[in-house]
Formats: sequence, C-alpha cells, structure tokens
Amino acid sequence: MSRYQPLPPLGKGQSRVVSYYFVEPPRRVRVARRLGLIAIVAVVAGALLASYALARPVVITVDGVKREVPAGAVVADLESARVFKASAGDLIAVDGSIARRGGGAPARILRNGQPANPAERLYRGDVLVSRRGADVPESLEETRLPIAYETRVEGKGSLSEVVRAGRPGEQLVKRGAVSHLIVDSVVLAEPVDEIVRRFGPKPGMKLVALTFDDGPWPGHTARVLDELKKANVKATFFLLGGQVKRYPGLVRRIVAEGHLLASHSLGHRYFSKIDAGQIRREVNGGRNAIKTASGVTTNWIRPPYGAMDGEAWRVVRASGGRVVLWDVDSGDWRKPGAKVIANTVVKHTTPGSIVLMHDGGGDRKQTAAAIPIIAKKLRAKGYVFVTVEELVRAKGVTKAPAARAAAGNRPK
Ligand SMILES: [Zn+2]
Repeated sequence: MSRYQPLPPLGKGQSRVVSYYFVEPPRRVRVARRLGLIAIVAVVAGALLASYALARPVVITVDGVKREVPAGAVVADLESARVFKASAGDLIAVDGSIARRGGGAPARILRNGQPANPAERLYRGDVLVSRRGADVPESLEETRLPIAYETRVEGKGSLSEVVRAGRPGEQLVKRGAVSHLIVDSVVLAEPVDEIVRRFGPKPGMKLVALTFDDGPWPGHTARVLDELKKANVKATFFLLGGQVKRYPGLVRRIVAEGHLLASHSLGHRYFSKIDAGQIRREVNGGRNAIKTASGVTTNWIRPPYGAMDGEAWRVVRASGGRVVLWDVDSGDWRKPGAKVIANTVVKHTTPGSIVLMHDGGGDRKQTAAAIPIIAKKLRAKGYVFVTVEELVRAKGVTKAPAARAAAGNRPK
C-alpha cells in the first residue's frame, strides 16, 4: 500500500492545483510494522551473540592445568601442541634395555573420565588427563649374517704378501628387529682366516731401496730429485694424496725421472686408530690422487707411522694394496746433519734393505745433501740401488734381476 493516495478525479469545468497529502496508515499496520522491526533486531542480536559465543576461547583443564583453547579445537590439537604431561611408552629390547624411547604405545588420553577420540571437540569445562602409554617389546627377526674373518700376520720383514686369502663365514641369527641384539645363533659356515706373511728381500744380492715419504713438498722434493739424478739413483716415493692434489707437477716429474710412485695414504692418519670406512677412504683417496695427477695406478702402500692392525690389513688387502714398511730408519726427520743421516743409512743397510727417508713434512735439505754420500759409500760396498718393485721382483733370484736392476740405474 502506497503512502500517497491520488485525489478523486475532477468534474467537468473544475480545476485545482495538483498536490498530494500524507495519509497515516491504519493502526493495525503500524503495530505489525513495529513488531517486525523488533523481530529483525532480535534476530540480528541473537546472531551476534551466538557468533561471539562460538568464537570465544574455551577454558579446559589439561593434566591439572587450566588452559584456553580456540573455539572448535579438538583433542588432537592438544596432542600436537604437546600439552599433555604423559609420554608414549618405550620399545623394549630383547635384553630389557630401551631399544627406542617413545617407541611403545602412545599416551592414553581421558576426557571427563572416558577414553578420548582425537577428533572429539573440546567444550568449556572439559577435564583432560593423560596416562603414559604401555611399553612394548620389540619383535624378533631371523637373518643370515656374515662372520668376519681374522687376518693373521706371520713372520717379520719390510714386505708382505698374502699366502692365504680370507673368506667370511655365515651364521643364522635370531635377533631383536630394532636393537639387533642377538638372542640365538647357529654357525652355518666357519670363516677362513687370511694369512699375510711378512718377509724381507732375499739376502745375498746387494740391493737397496731408498724410499721417501710425506711428499710432494715444494722446494724439497725438487732438491731430492736433483740429487738422485746427479747420483744416478732410482728411488721410491710414498706420496700423500693431499699433497699430490696440491703439487701434481712434482708427481709428474718424479715419474718422468724414472722413480716409482707409491701411496702413503690420503691424509697421514693412524690406520690403527680409525674405523674401516675411514681407512678405505685413506687408501683409495691416496691412490686416486696419484692416478689423477700422473695417470699411474699404484698398489704399493706404506701406512703412516707403519701402523697396521687386523682391520687395516683387511681393508688394505681388499683394495689390492701391498704394504711396504722399512728396515732402516735414516732418522732424517730429527735433522742431525747430512753426514749423520748418511752414516746411519750406510751402517744399518744390509742386502735387500728398504731405507726410510723423507722429502716432505718439513725442511729436507739435510736429506737431499745426504743422498750423494749414501750413493758413494754404498756403491763402494758393492750395493745397487733399486726401487721397491725391483727389490720385490728380485726376491729369491740370485743374479738376473740384480743385473736388470743395475741396468735400470744406468743413464738412458
Ligand atoms: Zn709419513
């Protein structure tokens, strides 16, 4: 119904100013309208109150502590916020120790005295309590495992060879699936120990091998090479992989001048103090560095400090390495003077000796200066200088290899 009512139509010849006037609606209509307005206000206010109530944080009690959580939060939200005091149970190993902390049953959550479902919604006044989860024993598994073989080192001498290869054994074990603690085992095959025989070059031929460790070293390796060339001596260089990477040019010069390349490991660590994986890195790293710098693959290796134990023997052997130690220590690292170094070497050398000297690791001027004295004095005694490889090849043969070795030492 419109508030504006048209006036009654005019009769013939009548005229008036056209206007409208306000017509008050009837009382019934006005009451209805007011009631409608009140209803709308009430609905809007109710909706506002309801949404306020819904959005208001909920106060609950968790393990005796009052906490506010957002409206709509569920039990799982409390778990992920780590507000419960009790933890999961542990996974218990076969020997009763803890195989994995928290690896047992999860903590139990009670909501108002009843086990709570993680998806349950939290309401004001809820009381939640956590109880530690149960411990769970680990399961057992049956598996075949290798039995490591031992390496037996027999005899004495600077050189070594494998006289019997080792072979791992096999056992069937029952063990904890997580702890790997063995509860029962049956040997299926016994391991076969490896036997390494150490030996010295056969005496009888006056062969001697000069060996230089810890290089290449800037300045000193070149000095040693110069003296070896002047004295016409072929030697063996036990190189450190780390140094080889820094000074590959010196490595190529050593090869070019007819000396034998050998490895002294990558980083000069005690093989007897590091684990098998680290020994493997030292052995392979040293050999690879030499290969990269010079193209030469060498299996000769001298462990730093001569330190070997059972594990070191196994790793070196498995990589095909041939261990070379020494029987004459020149003592050059003490820097006692070139004459003393030379006299020590000459005094202790016997046919087949391997002499330990150094071209790296510090100032080696005295070592270089000792070379011509050693060469002169040992030659005067009838010795021939050879590389370690020539020395090993000459073992047990009385004449030909010595002649070959001697020939190898003549200028080309
Ligand atoms: Zn060394």
